[in-house]
Amino acid sequence: MKKGRVFSGARPTGKQHIGNYLGAIQNYVKLQQDYDCIYCIVDIHALTTLEDTHMLKANTYDMMLDWLAAGLDPEKSILFVQSHVPEVMELHTLLSMVTPLGWLLRVTTFKEKVKMQPHNVNYGLVGYPVLMTADIVLYKADTVPVGEDQLPHLEIAREIVRRFNNIFGPTFPEPQAKLTNFPMVLGLDGEKKMSKSLDNQIELAASAEETTRRIMAAFTDPARKFRNDPGHPEVCNVYSLHHFYTSLKLDEIAKKCRAAEIGCVECKRMLAENINKALAPFREKRAQLAEKSGYVDEVLADGARRAHAIARETIIEVRGKIGLP
Ligand code: SF4
Repeated sequence: MKKGRVFSGARPTGKQHIGNYLGAIQNYVKLQQDYDCIYCIVDIHALTTLEDTHMLKANTYDMMLDWLAAGLDPEKSILFVQSHVPEVMELHTLLSMVTPLGWLLRVTTFKEKVKMQPHNVNYGLVGYPVLMTADIVLYKADTVPVGEDQLPHLEIAREIVRRFNNIFGPTFPEPQAKLTNFPMVLGLDGEKKMSKSLDNQIELAASAEETTRRIMAAFTDPARKFRNDPGHPEVCNVYSLHHFYTSLKLDEIAKKCRAAEIGCVECKRMLAENINKALAPFREKRAQLAEKSGYVDEVLADGARRAHAIARETIIEVRGKIGLP
């Protein structure tokens, strides 16, 4: 039976953190078993919010190295950089001609971005869903892994596809959402989602010492001021991280915390040990891959070549359907 084709893209944010891993990368790795997967670092999308591009190359390299060390397999999946296959820009322009502006102006994330960067409301921000649609349908992907919050974006992609197919004849499959429960991983500040820009992250590739140092400085239950105070694990950031790395002892930790039988220092040390233990194989593999001179560039070049072959066919078909001379 022919496998479905998955497409997913992520912005080049550099070294990945455990929030990225738990929220996306581990799912990417799993999907490789049942689908033909195409995973893309979407550097053009990054330009809509970036004002400084000097880190783009280094961030792309670090991110791909992390993906590879985490188990993305270039033998199974196509791994590449969006701008290395320029046909996506052409398809974006062609799809923009069938996309009513009203659809794009209604998108919630566009409105949010306008508020966040009123000094830089560029065309790319409003055209983002069209480029995203081009990313997916250029490779005729039929499946897109998304969280609940991203469903509206995929719905626009489906509407653009329907409109194009209605006007020019069946060309693209309507991409289906593969709903995935992406756990929300709080950062070490205990307030916001883990994010590099907030400096509240634990990088997958950090050393064991650095990981321990950052966890020991993490926020915990704000009401627990002294060692003898009973704690409230349900509001504690460290406890929420134990869910992912110490799941077998969760009840015990909660009980001891509430009874003040365990101190936060000990609790954090346990978490740091477990995270370091879980990440040791990843870190070893990453170091080995980093030693292989030119390896990441080779993976990206091969991915771009394979992606390009699919993209070329699609663009020839699309030009023909539209009737471009
Ligand atoms: Fe949080 Fe652990 Fe301290 Fe309880 S003992 S407040 S779970 S860090």
